[in-house]
Amino acid sequence: MDPYRLPRVVIPTRYDIRLEPDLTTLTFRGEETIAVSIEEPVGEVVLNAVELAIDEAVVVDGRGREQRAIVRLDEAAERCHLTFAEPLATGSGRLRLSFRGTLNDKLRGFYRSVYKDPGGVTRTMAATQFEATDARRALPCWDEPAFKAVFSVTLAIDPALTAVSNTRVLSEVSEGDRKVVRFADTITMSTYLLAFVVGELEHTEPSRVGDTPLSVWCVPGKRRLAAFGQEIAVASLRYFEDYYGLPYPGDKLDLLAIPDFAAGAMENLGAITFRETALLVDEQAASHAELQRVADVVAHENAHMWFGDLVTMSWWNGIWLNEAFATFMEMLAVDAWKPRWQRWVAFGVSRAAALTVDGLHSTRPIEFPVRAPREADAMFDVLTYEKGASVLRMLEQYLGPEVFRQGVRDYLRAHQYANADTGDLWAALGQASGQPIPAVMDAWIFAPGYPLVSVGVEGDEIVLRQQRFAYLPAPLRWWGAGPAASAGSGRWQVPVQLRVTAGGRDTVERVLLAEPEIRRPLPAGFESVVANEGGHGFYRVRYDDGLRARLLGRLPTLGAIERFNLVNDAWAVTVAGLMPATDYLELTARFRDERDKNVWSVLLGSFHALNRLVTPADRPKLEALVRDRVAPALAALGWTPQPGEDELTRQLRGDLIRALGTLGNDAEVQARTVGLYADHERGTATVDPNVLPALIAVLAHAGDEGRYHEFFERFRTARTPQEEQRYLYALTAFRQFPLVEQTLARTVNGEIRTQDAPFVVRTLLMLVHAREPAWDFVKKQWDTMDRLYPKHGLRRMAEGVIGLATPELEADVHRFFQERRVDLGGKTLEQYLEQLRVAVTLRERDGAALSAYLARF
Ligand SMILES: [Zn+2]
Repeated sequence: MDPYRLPRVVIPTRYDIRLEPDLTTLTFRGEETIAVSIEEPVGEVVLNAVELAIDEAVVVDGRGREQRAIVRLDEAAERCHLTFAEPLATGSGRLRLSFRGTLNDKLRGFYRSVYKDPGGVTRTMAATQFEATDARRALPCWDEPAFKAVFSVTLAIDPALTAVSNTRVLSEVSEGDRKVVRFADTITMSTYLLAFVVGELEHTEPSRVGDTPLSVWCVPGKRRLAAFGQEIAVASLRYFEDYYGLPYPGDKLDLLAIPDFAAGAMENLGAITFRETALLVDEQAASHAELQRVADVVAHENAHMWFGDLVTMSWWNGIWLNEAFATFMEMLAVDAWKPRWQRWVAFGVSRAAALTVDGLHSTRPIEFPVRAPREADAMFDVLTYEKGASVLRMLEQYLGPEVFRQGVRDYLRAHQYANADTGDLWAALGQASGQPIPAVMDAWIFAPGYPLVSVGVEGDEIVLRQQRFAYLPAPLRWWGAGPAASAGSGRWQVPVQLRVTAGGRDTVERVLLAEPEIRRPLPAGFESVVANEGGHGFYRVRYDDGLRARLLGRLPTLGAIERFNLVNDAWAVTVAGLMPATDYLELTARFRDERDKNVWSVLLGSFHALNRLVTPADRPKLEALVRDRVAPALAALGWTPQPGEDELTRQLRGDLIRALGTLGNDAEVQARTVGLYADHERGTATVDPNVLPALIAVLAHAGDEGRYHEFFERFRTARTPQEEQRYLYALTAFRQFPLVEQTLARTVNGEIRTQDAPFVVRTLLMLVHAREPAWDFVKKQWDTMDRLYPKHGLRRMAEGVIGLATPELEADVHRFFQERRVDLGGKTLEQYLEQLRVAVTLRERDGAALSAYLARF
C-alpha cells in the first residue's frame, strides 16, 4: 500500500456531518454518514484520521448488508483502518462513524482561539484550518484533494453562540440545551476547503454581487473595521466573475476574522478565514501599506474560489499553481480596483524577494514531485507565490492578456468541480494562443534558478547573453546535504523586451532569447538600451559599464519599475561579486531625486543589508551615508502632505522618515518625531496615517525604558489590528539590552500571540542591536518554541539567522543546527544558511573597500 495515498477502491461522494463543539470543555463530538462507491469487494476501508477517538463505525455495503467494523487507528500514518468480517459488496454504500476530539491550541484542525472582549473578559471561539492535511483532525475522511465530495454540515452549539460554515444556513432549531444549525449542501469539493467557525460573532450588512450575499464577520466590537475589507471583497468578486466568465460557485460568501490564525488567510469556499490584520482595518487611520495588505489578501482568497476551489490540483505538487495563480490574480484585481496604487510596480518588491531565494544553489524548481503531503509544507514559500506569480505574469505579457484570459477560461470550464494539473493549464493556454507553451515554460517551472541576461555593446552590435544567475560560485558546503539540486540546463527561453533609444526615438522589440547569445545591430544615433522593458521578466539584467552609465544619465526617461530593476539588479550583481560594492554605493547617489516608494524600498533594503555587515566602527559612517542619500528626498517632500498628493507619495514620506530616524540615526529627525508624536497624542496635531507608524518606529529606536512600557501598553490595548502590530514590532526596535531581553521573554510567555511571536523573534534576529541576545535566546528556548508555535512558525522564525552576518555567528549557527539535527522541511534550512554565507562572503570580499569608501562620511 502506498504510505501516502489512500487506496482508490472505496470512494466517498457525500458526507453528512454533525459536530457538537463544547467551548467549555474544549472538546467536540461528531457523527457522520459518508455515502461511498465501493469499487471492489474489499474487507478493509482505509481513510484518514488523527488525534480522534472513534467510538463506532458501521458500514452498509452495495447489497444493503450492515456490518460493524473493527477500528484500528494508525496515528503515525494518520489513518484509520476499518476491517470487516465479510468483504463489502460493490456498489453504493454508506459508512457511519461516531468520534470525539479536542479543540486544540495549535491553530490547525478544529482549534480554539482565545481573545478579550471589549470589556476585557477572556472569551473562546472555535475555528478550523484544514489545508493541507488537517481536516482529518476534525473528522475521519478521505483527506486528499482528489477525493472531492458534497458536504452537508450540521453544527450543534451553545444557543448563545453563532455558527458559520461554507454554505448558507438551511435551518436553526432548538434540541435540548443545544441550538442545531443545518447548512446547505456544498458544491463537490475537497476536504481541505471545509470550514466551521463557532463563537460570539457579529457580521456586517450583506452586500450583493449578483445573487451572492457577501458579509464580513468578526468578534464583537470590531465590526467598525470591516467596511474596507468588504469593499475590496465585493469589487474583486465582481472582477473575477467577469475575468473567469463563470459565476461565483458558492451560495454566499462570508469573510471571517479570527483572533488566532497561523497563516494569512484560508480560501475555504464561502467561508474564508483571515488573521485580523488581513481583513479588519480602519481606513482613515491606516497607512497605504496596511490597506494594500488587506486588499491583496482579500482579492487573493476570492481568486481561489474558482482557481483552487472550483478547479483543484490533483495532488500537493500542484499547490504552486494554485497559489501562484491566486497571487497573480490578486494583482490584476487590486490593480483594476485602485489603478493609482500602481500595484504591478509594487509587485517588483515581491518579484525581487523571489529572485533572491532563486539565486541560491539551494533553490528548487517551482514544481517538484511530492510523495508525502508533508513534503509540500515547504512549498508555501516565496518560490511558489512570488516566483510562480512572476512567471505567470511574464507569460501573460508574452501571450497578450486577452489570449491568456481565454486560456484560463477554457481551463476552468473544462475542469470545474474536478481536479487538474499544470499540464492541463498549459494545454488550454496552448489552444488559446497557438503557441508551444510547455517548450517556453518548462525551464521556468521545472528547473531551478533563472537567467542573468548580460547586455553589452561589442563593435556595432548589441549583444545579449544568458547564463544562470548565482550569488556564490559553488553550492554551500554543509552537513545536512539532502538530495542534490537538479542543475537544470542553465538555459531558458527568455522573453526579452528591448527598448532601444536612438536619435531621440524609442523602438521596442520582443525577442525570445532561447540561445546562449543573440546580437542586434546598433542603430545610428544610438543612445541607450533597456532590456526587460516594462519590467515583467523574471530575470536579472547586467549592463556593461558604458550602458549602465547611459541609463543612469537618463533616469527620468525610465519607468518606475525599470528604475527599480536597475537598482535591484545592480545590488544583486554586487552581492554576487560581479560589481564592486563601492560602485554600487556611487550608483545610489544618483537616486537622491527619486520619488517612487518601491525604488526607495530596494535602496533602503540594501542599506539595511550593509548595516548588518559593516564593523561597529564604520556604522556611524554608514549612518551618515544614509542621511546623505535620504535627507534630500525628505526635504523635497516635506513632513506634511500636500493637497492632492497621492497615497504612494504619502507612504514614501513615512518610509523616508523611518529610514532617516533609524538607519540614519538622524538626531534632528528623532527630535522632531518626539514633538510631533506628543502633539498627535494630545490631539493638537493631525499626523498623516502613513507617517504615524514611522514616528512610532523612530521613537522606539531612540527610546528608553519609559517609552518601552508606554508602547507595550499601547500594544495591549490597541484599537485596531494595525495599531497592535505597529506597537508590537516597535518593541523590537528598542536598543537597550534589558529591553531586548523583555521582548524576547514575551515571545514565549503568552503575552505575544503564538501567531505573531515567531515573526517578532525573526525581526530581532535581523536587527544589529538585538541579534546576539536573540540568537542566544533562540538556542535556549528552541524546544519551547517548537512546542508553542504553530507548525510553520519555527520555520519562519529561523529565517532570522540570515541577519547573523558575522563569521563567528555564522559558525555558531551551523554548530547549533547541526547538533540539534534541525530539519525545517524541504531545502528551507539550507537556503537560510546559504543566504547567510552570501552575506558573510560579501563582508569578507568587499569589507575593506567599503570601509575605505565610508571613511569620507
Ligand atoms: Zn492562496
